[in-house]
Amino acid sequence: MRPFMKLLIIGSGGREHALVWKLAQSPHATQMWCAPGNAGIQQEQTKKTENPVECVNIGAEDLPKLLAFAQEKKIDLTVVGPDNPLALGIVDLFQQNGLRIWGPNQKAAQFESSKVFSQRFMENYGIPTAKAGTFSVAGPAKAFAESLGGKCAVKADGLALGKGVLICASVAEANKAIDEILAGKAFGAAGAKIVIQEFLEGMEISLHALCDGKTAKLFPTSQDHKRARDGDRGLNTGGMGTYCPTPFLSETELAETGRKILEPFTRGCATEGIDFRGILYPGIMVTKTGPKVLEFNARFGDPETQVYLPRLENDLVELLDASVSGTLGKIEIRWSPLAAVCVVMASGGYPGNYPKGKPILGLTEADQLPNTKVFHAGTAMKDGEIVTNGGRVLGVTAWGKDLKTAQTAAYAAVEKICFEGAHFRRDIAAKGF
Ligand code: AMP
Repeated sequence: MRPFMKLLIIGSGGREHALVWKLAQSPHATQMWCAPGNAGIQQEQTKKTENPVECVNIGAEDLPKLLAFAQEKKIDLTVVGPDNPLALGIVDLFQQNGLRIWGPNQKAAQFESSKVFSQRFMENYGIPTAKAGTFSVAGPAKAFAESLGGKCAVKADGLALGKGVLICASVAEANKAIDEILAGKAFGAAGAKIVIQEFLEGMEISLHALCDGKTAKLFPTSQDHKRARDGDRGLNTGGMGTYCPTPFLSETELAETGRKILEPFTRGCATEGIDFRGILYPGIMVTKTGPKVLEFNARFGDPETQVYLPRLENDLVELLDASVSGTLGKIEIRWSPLAAVCVVMASGGYPGNYPKGKPILGLTEADQLPNTKVFHAGTAMKDGEIVTNGGRVLGVTAWGKDLKTAQTAAYAAVEKICFEGAHFRRDIAAKGF
């Protein structure tokens, strides 16, 4: 790899702030840009050269402008955060133009961009998953849902801003969901095909594996909190908080689960000519009959990244570079023995409508606490002041010798921060005790 690198990070959320923060610590990073970034990202600087990270006003899906920018600045490595640019083929485009970029190409990104593709792949290569069927017409779909007693998850095939999954408890609910997605086009073209999975009960966790086309290196487990309110009540959100590690798989069980997923995954990719370089992030249900894959994502989780990266002891530039080069096999990924907790502070009204532009107070005080980092998600700089600019505003993250210490520290930091209408869950990591 090149000893010194100019980096471009694509995206603007908490995940991207965590990536920028960790990449900036690498002695390889000399100059960094983020498109479009946020107010927190723009306060970071490269550790070695003390160059401020510059945010550039280009959207994460504006591929031609991103390419032109990377060419103009002679970027050595572009790092893609969100799923959409991957599904649009940003990696293919950059590579065709001779630029190094980290993330799966369009074909490999199908693991996230098409649930039908993923489900078929899992079945073809024996990856443990829910009993499922894929459909494009309502009749057979309804018959299959009925065979499951109506207890199922009806999923739009394509990307639907994380909202394309309807959980059903009865045949009537399932029929309604099938009609809404297939005939009613609730998710537009993303719902031209659907996957129906049996409803799985158990504990849901996230796995991540860094892949380089041949090798896949598994991370520790983490757990997201999807619902807006304490006790897993309220509406589904992008994720209200995470912690890492979780107690739901022992070291041995994790290794076994990783093997059961990643071996067939790697074999299947080789058979189908899929060159997967990036993060494979399976959503897992730990059921009574073992862990099963609910879905695959093809990028870092948000807010999982916020609890993984504070524990990562490797140089992230070196890891991502090895993932691009196909040399991960030579690297051991090392994790600190600490636990990490991230509490998301959201705008009033989120996940529904919410106002923007509310001044955020207490950020400096919170960031000064030991073993704490406030990752920004929906924030912006307005007249020299940091204001809210999205639904999920901050990912207040802390780490410590165990989960309790990390949780106490994260909430101590949350207490320092206020903005009008702020809400957050008070039970992040509680399931881990
Ligand atoms: P997905 O985007 O496929 O992960 O689905 C979104 C959420 O729906 C997951 O995080 C689960 O909480 C839930 N879910 C998805 N599939 C199932 C299933 N087969 N059984 C139970 N819950 C599910």
